[in-house]
Amino acid sequence: MSANLVAVAYIGATILFILSLGGLSNPETSRRGNVYGIVGMTIAVLATVLGPRVTPAAYPWIVGALVAGGAVGLYAARKVAACLVGFASYVDTSIAYTGAEKTIHEIEIYLGIAIGAVTFSGSVIAFGKLSGKIGGKPLLLPARHWLNFAGLLVVIWFGAKFLQAHDVQAGMLPLIVMTAIALAFGVHMVMAIGGADMPVVVSMLNSYSGWAAAATGFMLSNDLLIVTGALVGSSGAILSYIMCRAMNRKFLAVIAGGFGTGGGAPAVAGGELAGEVTSISAVETAEMLRSAENVIIVPGYGMAVAQAQHTVFEITKLLREKGVNVRFGIHPVAGRMPGHMNVLLAEAKVPYDIVLEMDEINEDFPDTDVSMVIGANDIVNPSAQDDPSSPIAGMPVLEVWKAKTSIVMKRSMASGYAGVDNPLFYKDNNRMLFGDAKEMLGEVLTALKG
Ligand code: NDP
Repeated sequence: MSANLVAVAYIGATILFILSLGGLSNPETSRRGNVYGIVGMTIAVLATVLGPRVTPAAYPWIVGALVAGGAVGLYAARKVAACLVGFASYVDTSIAYTGAEKTIHEIEIYLGIAIGAVTFSGSVIAFGKLSGKIGGKPLLLPARHWLNFAGLLVVIWFGAKFLQAHDVQAGMLPLIVMTAIALAFGVHMVMAIGGADMPVVVSMLNSYSGWAAAATGFMLSNDLLIVTGALVGSSGAILSYIMCRAMNRKFLAVIAGGFGTGGGAPAVAGGELAGEVTSISAVETAEMLRSAENVIIVPGYGMAVAQAQHTVFEITKLLREKGVNVRFGIHPVAGRMPGHMNVLLAEAKVPYDIVLEMDEINEDFPDTDVSMVIGANDIVNPSAQDDPSSPIAGMPVLEVWKAKTSIVMKRSMASGYAGVDNPLFYKDNNRMLFGDAKEMLGEVLTALKG
């Protein structure tokens, strides 16, 4: 395959990636978007492998690497890759750069490795926090901003040393020191960020991985990698910004860290809120749902953990057949990942037209008979609106308490991810349906059928 043909294939792949992103912006077109992405990536890989820079002797290596890389897991590999490609590119003597070109190439290497290392170690910590292996509480070292600033100065100083180095051996030490500092910075940065801000961090790290890939693209003079990296980088940055707005947080405040707590603590322990809660049984819940005209279901993290989406769909189907107007209200950060709830509901075949965003449905709660909260907590917490001293003050929430009756379905009185008490549970028009989401909803379904 000639270099010209490869360039044409890359342009085709780039167009497909842009169409893919466009398609993914809407549930109806997301499948098509995915197909564009897959076709684009297949073209990109084939054009690279069959292009003039790869000799047939390398094919077995490439196949071996594909299998091994796939096994390690694409997610982690992408971040480590940016780092390792940087080192590989530095020790690669097959292309000799001189003068300004050499300096630019070395800056690309240095930046690529730095971003890759921060992204990698930050992602490992974010994974630990999201999976509950590391507590959600922010770790705030004394003078942490000064520590970061000192780290930055050292990185810049070693950057200058790296550019002055005359050979690969001399350049290796600054490169390794910088990598170690960047790895430590990634850990420190994400450790300082509290649980409630983690969604922003996840999408921000995703954005960084895009910029790392773009830097790698410059290193390898690969236009396609530059474009795809920039697409991932900018879309991640836009998503981070949208999520910050959804949580009423300032982007810089998130990065500076310190917000949110460990989560999971019992909400009643000594809190001023401790009051009377009224519980309800599955049979009574079924009765209430059956006699309602309008129902809004608000799913959260607990529905995802219990894998209750299929039962939720069965209940929805049954109620709709009985003429009840059932709709879903989705908070932008419900669950543990951006788009978490939409994906689960789509998987359970809930029709898209009854799944509404928070802004679209919030003003309909006063005209709703029953709002049913399934394994959600922070996203329906009224103290975000009423209590300026609350850690989640100002975060937009779904106003489920404005319905005639709200039913909260969860296992206990424990708090949610942000670790904040929830006054909703004690409101007069609220009922608590205690139990595992899947089991309890199974009972509700049986009662509805009976
Ligand atoms: P929350 O974490 O606030 O609440 C979930 C509730 O589900 C818990 O209080 C828990 O109560 C209940 N639960 C857990 N397991 C089950 C089960 N098996 N059956 C029934 N209930 C269960 O989740 P929300 O969705 O309301 O809010 C999302 C939170 O996660 C926000 O704080 C957000 O900032 C954060 N976050 C969001 C991300 C995103 O991108 N969407 C990423 C990272 C964090 P109990 O133990 O009593 O059952």
